[in-house]
Amino acid sequence: MEIAIIGAGIGGLTLALRLHQKGLKPRVYETTAELRPLGVGIVSQPYGTREMTELGLLDELNAASVDSIESLYYNQYGQEIYGERCGSHMGYPHAQRFIHRGIWQMMLYKAVVERLGKDAVVLGARCAGFEQDDTGVTIRFTAHPAATNPVPTEVRADVMIASDGINSAVRAQLHPQKSKPHFSGITLWRGVTLMKPFKTGGAILHIGAPSQGSLIVYPIVDNYEGTGLTLVNWIVEQNDRAESIEDWNQKGDVAEIAHMFDECELDFINVGEMLRNSKEVYLFPLIDHDPLEQWSFGRVTLMGDAAHAMYPRGGNGACQALVDARVVAEKLITIESPAEAFKAYEEERRPIANRLVLANRGDGPEVVRRIVEERTGGKRFDDIEKVLPFAEADSIFKEYHRLAGMKRPNENPNEASGFRSVFFHNA
Ligand SMILES: Cc1cc2nc3c(=O)[nH]c(=O)nc-3n(C[C@H](O)[C@H](O)[C@H](O)COP(=O)(O)OP(=O)(O)OC[C@H]3O[C@@H](n4cnc5c(N)ncnc54)[C@H](O)[C@@H]3O)c2cc1C
Repeated sequence: MEIAIIGAGIGGLTLALRLHQKGLKPRVYETTAELRPLGVGIVSQPYGTREMTELGLLDELNAASVDSIESLYYNQYGQEIYGERCGSHMGYPHAQRFIHRGIWQMMLYKAVVERLGKDAVVLGARCAGFEQDDTGVTIRFTAHPAATNPVPTEVRADVMIASDGINSAVRAQLHPQKSKPHFSGITLWRGVTLMKPFKTGGAILHIGAPSQGSLIVYPIVDNYEGTGLTLVNWIVEQNDRAESIEDWNQKGDVAEIAHMFDECELDFINVGEMLRNSKEVYLFPLIDHDPLEQWSFGRVTLMGDAAHAMYPRGGNGACQALVDARVVAEKLITIESPAEAFKAYEEERRPIANRLVLANRGDGPEVVRRIVEERTGGKRFDDIEKVLPFAEADSIFKEYHRLAGMKRPNENPNEASGFRSVFFHNA
């Protein structure tokens, strides 16, 4: 079967590996002329790590990422609200890992080239549209001016799976009325800073009063280039800025936001310094797509961000694409008719992904910071237990994991996954 995959992002490359595991040899068409490790931090949830294990890439993932040990919530003054263990430290069978998006993509690309051959990925090929009939799909391409390999203007395939990201050309053709993303009104500032490791070396910090802005911080590379320092990823959510353009590589000036966390006092990290010392800073609007009512049209289907772009705040975007890849491959191999296979894939995946898109528009577990801001009127507190009792915070997290399809493995109250430093370790 001739299988065309559009887009060599994390989703498209994983699909190529999954199909190869089933004995098929798909071809991936990627618009950029050269794959480079772009982006900043991203999360492999325990279920994403399971997918990587099944692909035989666990060692590579572990070597390139940082184990996620604990997740800590603070108000804008740096006062601790709640803490929770992560991944295998919480009892899930697989670890949660923090990784640079570009490193993850290049790891998958290397595996595709090794397993399927270099010609399995055609670089510099931008899908410009397609037509399908009863026997196949004709896909039109335009060549990138910097392409060094031959780029076909037209390809005939039995099926096409579009994994061409949030600005998917295939999605725009299938759903012209729903091609414009939904803007939340929030701008994301994303940066990386080289600094001394903090806390357990595997902590994700959630800081701030949501009505003013939020900051998320986590390590993505340990002992960066042998320096003993950690490469730390940070994301600032700014509420009151005009919409920025949808370009993952749009650079920003950190001076615009660094002052936002001047009041935050943490004894293990200087937040202002971290922001100002950033190696690179990018701007991106917090956007997603409204959930779609149909992904599969005959011999063509959507996956990953092309099907269900969601706010990256939930840390599920890449992992959902990995799951799509597994399910598409399983259905294509077990169901004879491609159209039926794509329908079955969509039936299994669309309700879950759409639910997550909508859930990510809410606060998720970040709601604990909002509750504290509301109950304290945005002021410092003396005793967090009087503002947000531990049991209340813990039940919010328990419920969130259940909703996200990752029920906490350990619900025994004597061994709760959540904690406050006073109960667990010295802050
Ligand atoms: C450059 C870049 C940087 C990113 N940085 C971050 C980040 O820092 N943090 C984060 O949470 N998420 C980031 N993302 C998004 C994240 O990678 C996805 O949410 C997630 O991995 C799902 O992957 P995907 O394969 O569906 O989409 P993507 O990873 O977006 O991959 C889509 C691929 O399709 C290619 N493509 C697009 N249009 C066409 C076309 N017409 N024809 C052929 N190929 C096409 C793109 O070049 C890209 O390689 C980034 C995406 C990109 C493209």
